[in-house]
Amino acid sequence: MTHDLPHERTAVVTGAASPRGIGRVVAEQLLRDGWSVGVIDLDADAAATAAAGLAEATGGRAHGVGADISDPDAVAHAVDTLEQALPPLVGLANIAGISSPTPYLELSLDEWRRQIDVNLTGVHIVTQRVARSMVTHQVGRIVNISSISAQRGGGTFSKTPYSAAKAGLVGFTRAIARELGEYGITANIVSPGPIDTDIMGGRLSEERKEGFIAEQLVKRIGTPSDVAAAITFLMSQRAGFITAENISVNGGQYMG
Ligand code: NAD
Repeated sequence: MTHDLPHERTAVVTGAASPRGIGRVVAEQLLRDGWSVGVIDLDADAAATAAAGLAEATGGRAHGVGADISDPDAVAHAVDTLEQALPPLVGLANIAGISSPTPYLELSLDEWRRQIDVNLTGVHIVTQRVARSMVTHQVGRIVNISSISAQRGGGTFSKTPYSAAKAGLVGFTRAIARELGEYGITANIVSPGPIDTDIMGGRLSEERKEGFIAEQLVKRIGTPSDVAAAITFLMSQRAGFITAENISVNGGQYMG
């Protein structure tokens, strides 16, 4: 069994509706690499509009559906819809996530639970459903997005529950890599440093950018394309011998 990716293939990308986000760039690069793309994001209209724009920009096939990734029924319905509309589901980039800048002593249990629900349980819900399709095709590429916040214990924007959920994703990804490897499925992690998107409460001010850059070896702020380069490589045919790996994309802000 070669476990090669099929020529006609689809990657599900969650969180790709954010106009300046990482997911949008990942989806666009995957389309340029020959994938069809199924977008899942909170708002159905935004997901459909993003998919239409991506298809037009790249000439590829994309379809967008709405689902909260922490809602198993909504995810099942969304993935069923994508599976019917697009070629075999053999790729998954779990990009959707939410930030949590609340100091620990002020943190409510509701905020803690929402962070874990979306950033950890949501990734599991989508992964389990899509992995079942990958098993039928005997090949798959899963990439989950952790954070430098898990490696350093915050220090950029988000704090405790975000760091806990993102650290949880590392163990989760390694465990599924172990269980799913026999089906030709790889599972890897990308851990970005601060990237100039809207997740840290809007556009980064020049002052905040300078603060991050001062701690980095590469003297510029990271972009969604920097992160997408690592994610789309891990989803490519040529990355098929890499699994359970965690690639940092942080300009040298953290070594470990
Ligand atoms: P973003 O806010 O631009 O995009 C996040 C997307 O996820 C949005 O489209 C949002 O609608 C979607 N989303 C949020 N909750 C969802 C839910 N419950 N169900 C479905 N979709 C949901 O943020 P981004 O910066 O592009 O972040 C993408 C990922 O990268 C996140 O997981 C984030 O934690 C991670 N990350 C970002 C940075 C950074 O500095 N920007 C650093 C490290 C890790």
